[in-house]
Amino acid sequence: MKRSAHAIIDTAALRHNLARCREVAPNSLAMAVIKANAYGHNMLKAAETLSHANGFAVSCLQEALELRQARFIHPIVVLQGFHTMQSMKAIAEHRLRAVIHDRHQLELLDSAPASVKLDVALKLDTGMHRLGLPIEQARTLFERLSKHPNIKPTPWLMTHMACADEPDNPHTQQQLERFAKYTDGLQAPRSIGNSASILAWPESHVNWVRPGIMLYGSSPFAHGNARRDGLEAVMTLSAPLVAIHTIPKGESIGYGASWTCPEDTRTGVVACGYADGYPRHAPTGTPVWINGKESRILGRVSMDMIVIDLTAIEARAGDQVELWGKHLSVDRIAQAAGTISYELLCNAGNQCQHTYV
Ligand SMILES: *Cc1c(COP(=O)(O)O)cnc(C)c1O
Repeated sequence: MKRSAHAIIDTAALRHNLARCREVAPNSLAMAVIKANAYGHNMLKAAETLSHANGFAVSCLQEALELRQARFIHPIVVLQGFHTMQSMKAIAEHRLRAVIHDRHQLELLDSAPASVKLDVALKLDTGMHRLGLPIEQARTLFERLSKHPNIKPTPWLMTHMACADEPDNPHTQQQLERFAKYTDGLQAPRSIGNSASILAWPESHVNWVRPGIMLYGSSPFAHGNARRDGLEAVMTLSAPLVAIHTIPKGESIGYGASWTCPEDTRTGVVACGYADGYPRHAPTGTPVWINGKESRILGRVSMDMIVIDLTAIEARAGDQVELWGKHLSVDRIAQAAGTISYELLCNAGNQCQHTYV
C-alpha cells in the first residue's frame, strides 16, 4: 500500500543503539528482539543492519522461518515456542531455539519421534504470570529437559520481568531473587532482561540480554528520555503538508468541531492520519515538527489527515512534517496519546512505506 506518509529508518542509529546495549551490559551476549516486523521497522532489513548481534528473538515460528529463508544463520529464539507437533519439527529442522513455557509442550515433547532434536529455553514464571512454568519447579523441570532424548544440551533458563520499567518498584527485585534462588547451582545459560532491565537492573544482565525497544531508540521507562539513556531515534514518521488555510476567529476545526480558533489562525493539513498509524487519541496540542520548529496538532485526528497550527511558521504545501523521529521523540507522542511508543512504532511502521538510510 502506497501512501503519502512514510517511515524513514536510520540504520546508523539502529546500530548505535545495539552498541549502547553492549556498553551497558558488556559481559552479556545480545539477542536483538525483532518480533512484530522489528517493532514496525522491517524485520529483514533490521536483521541485516543488526547482523552483528549474537542472536535474534522473535515471537513465532513464521517470523523465524522468514529469517532462515533469508539466510540468517544466527541463533534464533522463538519466544512462544511450539504448539503442535508440526511446529516442533519445523523448529528442530531449522535449528531454532524453542521456549518451553507450558505443560502441553512437555507432553508434545514426550510423544516426539526420536529423530527430533531440539534446542530449548525453559521459561520460568517468577511473577509476570503470562508465559512460564512455576519457578518453584525449576530444578525438576531442568533435570527432566536435560535428560530428555529429544533435547540437545544444554537447555537455557529464562524469565521475564513485569515491572522493570519502574525503577522504584520492588516487584523486580522480588522476581530476580526468586529466579536466583530456584535456579541456584544449575549449569545453564540464563536470560532475564528486556530493555528496561538492561538499563535499570544490572543484576538482570546474566548470559543473554534481550533488547527490544531500546534498539529502536525509545526509552522503556514511563517518563523516560531516550537521549538520557544514550539512545538515538531510528524511525522518523514524515508526511507532506497538502493544504494551508487561515481559519477565522470563532470557527472550529475538524470532526466534532472540537477546537475553536481563539483568533484568526493559519493552519496546515498534513497527509497522515490514523490509517497511517498515527494515534487517533492524540489530543490538540500534541507536538509536530515542521521547518525547524515545533508546532502542535489542532482538533481531532482523521483517517488520512491531521490539522496543525502554522502560527508564526513559514510553510508551503509540499513541505515535510515530522510526526515523530529525530526532532520529536516518539515517547512524547505516545505520552500525549495515552499509549506507549511500542504501539505507535508497530502501527505506523506496519502501515507506511519504509525508506532505509
Ligand atoms: C518483547 C520481548 C522482549 C523485548 O522487550 P523490550 O521491552 O522491547 O526490550 C524481551 N523478552 C521477551 C520475552 C519479550 O517478549
